[in-house]
This record gives sequence, structure tokens and C-alpha cells, in this order.
Amino acid sequence: MKEHSFWSDTVEAFSPAPHDWPSRMDVAIVGGGYTGLSAARELARGGARVAVLEANTLGWGASSRNGGMVLTGLKASAGALVKRFGMETARALFCTSLDAISYVEQVVNEESIACDFRRRGHIELAYKPGHFAGFIREAELLQKHFQHPVRLVDKAHLGDEIETDLYHGGLVDETSAGVNPAQYAAGLASAAERAGAWLFEETRVTRIERSAANGLGFDVVTSRGKLHADQVMIATNGYTERLVPWLQRRIIPIGSYIIATKPLPPELAQRVSRHRRMMFDSKNFLYYFRLSADNRMIFGGRAGFMPANANTVRESAAILRRGMLEVYPQLKDIAVEYAWGGTLGFTFDLLPHAGTTAEDIHYALGCGGHGVALLSYLGACVAQRIAGRRIENPLFTLPFPTAPANLYRGNPWFLPLAGLYYRLLDAVS
Ligand SMILES: Cc1cc2nc3c(=O)[nH]c(=O)nc-3n(C[C@H](O)[C@H](O)[C@H](O)COP(=O)(O)OP(=O)(O)OC[C@H]3O[C@@H](n4cnc5c(N)ncnc54)[C@H](O)[C@@H]3O)c2cc1C
Repeated sequence: MKEHSFWSDTVEAFSPAPHDWPSRMDVAIVGGGYTGLSAARELARGGARVAVLEANTLGWGASSRNGGMVLTGLKASAGALVKRFGMETARALFCTSLDAISYVEQVVNEESIACDFRRRGHIELAYKPGHFAGFIREAELLQKHFQHPVRLVDKAHLGDEIETDLYHGGLVDETSAGVNPAQYAAGLASAAERAGAWLFEETRVTRIERSAANGLGFDVVTSRGKLHADQVMIATNGYTERLVPWLQRRIIPIGSYIIATKPLPPELAQRVSRHRRMMFDSKNFLYYFRLSADNRMIFGGRAGFMPANANTVRESAAILRRGMLEVYPQLKDIAVEYAWGGTLGFTFDLLPHAGTTAEDIHYALGCGGHGVALLSYLGACVAQRIAGRRIENPLFTLPFPTAPANLYRGNPWFLPLAGLYYRLLDAVS
């Protein structure tokens, strides 16, 4: 079994053009995933001198390792958003997710990125009969109050979507899309470079300080040298460390793991996913799964909350394979060829956040498993804001919470407890 992302084997690694180390830039962006690259493309198209500073290779983080699900909605359900924020803000938040998908579609088309972006829709699958009752309420809310079309599929008709006995119905949303995430990341890097951004790999930012010269702008200290930037943006999501402690206290890094099988015979692939949708279930410890373009079953989940070690990917692969066979016993003879993991960025209110810190550092992060579209879009919105445009979006103005009483400083000690709590919820809900 190969212990790296299947998607990375489907794309030529993108090598950025070499540049001499710049002493000055208009904007320095820390992190070369969707957020940073999307912001860089937008800024460079507006004529700014932008450097993307990536500690590893471009797209190395979650952006080349994810499930490639380009989903409507946020981590919190529409119903939960209405309860917390009222109808108007909830609708605005939900609409952001729709705008984000359209944004990705537009970029993919404008830049001719070959990344298998297709609006195949998603289906959420009810793990318990009571979860389907929740789907009925969610569907009514989405249709009546958000004017967003979705379709319920009861257990008797679930075979039209997926060949499994495990689930108790589904909620189909045709607006969602699927993408090959690594091809999208490489295409975005290439587009940012074509627009004029300077992209630096193997360049870790170690310190950001107000400029010593005149207090205007920032000195950005990196493993390659120092540069002065008028503005700085943090685009490190689940890989956020101590660079900006205020952000680190607000982002919870959580590992997620994926296996990819050998390609399924076409007839079997057709049975396990009739419409090749993005699929996920209604558990807190959810499974998410889909077919790749070459008919592999890509099956992911949060296999464990404990800190990762050298065995974690292998152990996670075994857990995920058991999960896959729970959904699809008919895949018992199909070998798992790849297993890998990556780090998601969660927040304490389960919402993404974008904006500017008290030190005038820009950021967009924290989408959980909805970052493919949302962080591409929010990265571009932050770029527009840096360029002086007014952005009307609640994700820029909602309070960005951290844990009470300074209980969290970047070491998520509470994750094993949270894992137990969510497993218990899954057992009793
Ligand atoms: C296994 C998995 C499955 C997922 N599935 C989905 C899905 O199906 N759909 C969906 O919408 N979302 C999914 N996500 C989430 C999605 O992938 C992320 O939200 C998104 O890729 C984040 O993009 P980003 O650019 O903000 O961060 P990343 O792509 O994580 O990039 C951050 C980068 O910052 C760099 N960095 C960190 N610190 C420094 C530093 N000091 N100096 C320089 N560089 C630094 C890192 O090297 C990294 O490359 C998944 C995530 C994982 C891990």
C-alpha cells in the first residue's frame, strides 16, 4: 500500500519559475494551498507584487490531499445556522457556499484547469432512521426559506443512488460538485504564476514583525531570508502554528484520513454510486466517499483524534477499510492501494473566518471539510479587501471565538475527550 495521496500521483508536480529573493513586495502570503494561491492570483491580476511563501511544496497541505468534494453549505447545518444567527444571516452564510462553488467553477473555466470539476451533486446519507427525520426538516428549510432545491430519497428508493443496506434515506443536492483536488491545486498555482505572483517553495516563514524602519508594513523573516511587505496574509489553515498566536488560539488542527482502492470494474462502480455523487453520512464521526475518474473508491473519515505517529496512516487505513465494507460489503475483494492523511482547520464555532487581526494581518481559515470551495473563495475575497474593495459578508464580521479562560494555546489536548463525546453522540442520537 502506498502511503501518500492518490491524487498526487495523477498530476505533474508544478514547479514554479525561479526568482531572486525579493527584498520588497506589496503582499506576502504565508501558505501555498487554495487560500494563498487564490488570493495571490486575485492580487496579481490587480497589479500587486505578491509573493507566496510555502514551507513545503505548493499544495502540499490539505489542498492536495482532500476528498475533492465541492459542497454546498457549511459544516453547521442550515437549521443550526438559523437557530444561532436568525434567518437572514443564516441565508447569507449559506449563499456564501453557493457563491464559493460558482467561484471555483469560474476560475477552473477561465484558467482552463483540467481537474475533472463536475457538478455531479452530493447525497447525505442517514445513518439512523431519526437522522432522516432531520433531513426532512432541513429540506423544507432549504426549499422554503433559502429557495435552494434539494431532494429527499427515502430508504425504499435509495437503490437509485447507492447499492447499500446501511443507510435510512438520503438528501440529494445537485448543486455540489466534485474535483480532483491535486490537479485543481496545481492549476491554481500555475494560474497565480501566470497572473504575475512569485511563488516560493521550501520557504518557511518564522517571524512576522512590524517593520523596524518606519513601522509601516512588515518584515517577514523566512528560512530563505527576510523581505519587507506592505501587507501580510496568513493562509495556513490546519497547519497554523505560532506565527500569529491570536490565530493559533482559534484554529484546531484535526487529522482526517482517506483510502483509495484499486479501480473498480465499471459495472461495480456503477452500482456503488449510480450518479457518481459526492457522498457522506450523518454521523459526527462521518464517512465521506466518492469515485475517482478512474473508478477507485475514495473513502475517508476521521479515523482517530489522538496525535499522529508513524503508524497512524496504516492503522487508519485498516479502520477505514472496515468502514468501507460496512457500507459496501461487495468491495471485500477490492484491494486498497493508497492511504494518506492530512490536517483540517476547525474553529470553536464550526464556521470559517476571514478578516484582519489587531496587528493588521489578513487571514482566511477554518472551514473544516468544506474548504475546497469556501477557502478558494475567501482567499479571493481577502485579496479584494487588501486591494481596497468593500466585502459584505458575515464571515468577515462575526466574532472569531477561542476557548474560554485561555484554555487553548494551540495544543488541542481536548481532542481525545471530544472524540469520545462525539462517538457517544453517534451511539445515542
Ligand atoms: C483528508 C482531508 C479531506 C478533506 N476533504 C475535503 C472535501 O472533500 N471537501 C472540502 O471542501 N474540504 C475538504 N478538506 C478541507 C480542505 O482540504 C481544506 O479546507 C483546504 O484545502 C485548506 O486550504 P488552505 O490553502 O487554507 O490550507 P492548506 O492547503 O492546508 O495549506 C496550508 C499551507 O500552509 C503551509 N504553511 C504552514 N505554516 C507555514 C509557514 N510558517 N511558512 C510557510 N508555509 C506554511 C503548509 O505547508 C501548507 O501547505 C479536507 C481536508 C483533509 C485534510
